[in-house]
Amino acid sequence: MLTILSSRSLGPAREAAPSVLYEAGLYTPDAFHPRGAVLVQDGVIVDVFPEAPADAEQLGVRIALDGILFPGLIDAHNHASFGAIPSWTPARYYTSRFDWRGKSRAGVWVVPEPDPDYARLVSAPFKKIPTVMQPQAFLYGQVRGVVGGTTTMLLDAEVGIPDLPGLPGFVRDPKDWGSRVFGVLDILAVDAVSVNEIVKELNADRAKLMVHLGEGTDGFARGEFRSLVDRQLLTKNTSLIHGMGLLRPDWLKVQQSSASVVWSPVSNLRLYGRTLDIAAVVGLGIPVALAPDWAVSGSSTLLDELRFVRRNYPILGAERLVAMCTEVPAALLGLHHLGRIEKGRAADLLLLGGHRDVTSRFQAADALCHAHVEEVTLVIIAGVSVCGTAELMAKTPAGGLASEIVSVPSTSADYGRTLRIAESAAFGPAATALQGVLGALAPLWEPPVL
Ligand SMILES: [Zn+2]
Repeated sequence: MLTILSSRSLGPAREAAPSVLYEAGLYTPDAFHPRGAVLVQDGVIVDVFPEAPADAEQLGVRIALDGILFPGLIDAHNHASFGAIPSWTPARYYTSRFDWRGKSRAGVWVVPEPDPDYARLVSAPFKKIPTVMQPQAFLYGQVRGVVGGTTTMLLDAEVGIPDLPGLPGFVRDPKDWGSRVFGVLDILAVDAVSVNEIVKELNADRAKLMVHLGEGTDGFARGEFRSLVDRQLLTKNTSLIHGMGLLRPDWLKVQQSSASVVWSPVSNLRLYGRTLDIAAVVGLGIPVALAPDWAVSGSSTLLDELRFVRRNYPILGAERLVAMCTEVPAALLGLHHLGRIEKGRAADLLLLGGHRDVTSRFQAADALCHAHVEEVTLVIIAGVSVCGTAELMAKTPAGGLASEIVSVPSTSADYGRTLRIAESAAFGPAATALQGVLGALAPLWEPPVL
């Protein structure tokens, strides 16, 4: 039985909690400590001990954990409000995003209309969710992330998404931290005024740009990159989401500009039958973050995406892959206080249960890269336990939040989790309402298709 705890928005300002010393295996930036300890105070890591100190009781509440603590996973790109839509497997491969999604500008279809299967199985159900239920839809997508150990998620893709006050979410959105992130779904659709503002903010190091681009194999996909360059938007603060359509000269420009990439191989392979030449991209020293894109055609969780990549791209190495889900996306999003178990960083942690035989950093990383959602036995955001076994939730800081129980499918059998919601039992009613609108509601975890 696992337990999940949530608040409306777990930003840095929450009620004070007692200092807690977690004793566990520790995955730190440069070492693995099999019997380490991390001291957490007011949501922040205030000390890291290679060996649990003998006078632990003087430091705070001492909690021994069976497993390895990692930084919480950071999902730099998701369309969380689609999380309630069941996974969709296309009947054929497409040539670019707009080949299946369709695209109209100013009422004119500039690329083919949506694929009929996509329209029927994804787009039409999604449109049934009324605006007033968007917070519930986003919540559902966030819960899907947290069961896999995600503690930060960029919730949506576009400039000008409606602010979502009252979003009862509990995976941090970077907005909680004041980091300005521009999201762009279609570079050609951004007006000149917005482009000028984004360029100004990027060049002043005041913002990050996450831009869908080059999602496909045709000239249209590559042309988006040229449009980005023409608009002076290729900067060190820019992250290209996908980039499959880029050719070698384009990648050299990305390298020169010190821009980054968000890689979603499962979704790429399911939609287009191919993905980036990741070895070449990494070989150029371009920072790469891993993200599922969305559960509709990508992995159910970032943890599942990580496992897929570990199995299929051994050249990347386990420790690099863990960084691609933690410190790299933290840097891409400008969240320099997240992504590492290090003094002064936020206490966003995931516990991988068991693995008492692990002795090296590589082994620890490799264990996470092979993990399934049910092995994530505790998730902590800003020092508050948000997800874990009933036993662990009972002995870790709960922030005074209420709880509710949900069922999560897993690789072996369904198992229960308890959600704790700050102001009301929000998740159950949200799921019931979404089920009522959609008919078919995606389960909280779906098995991999690839
Ligand atoms: Zn996307």
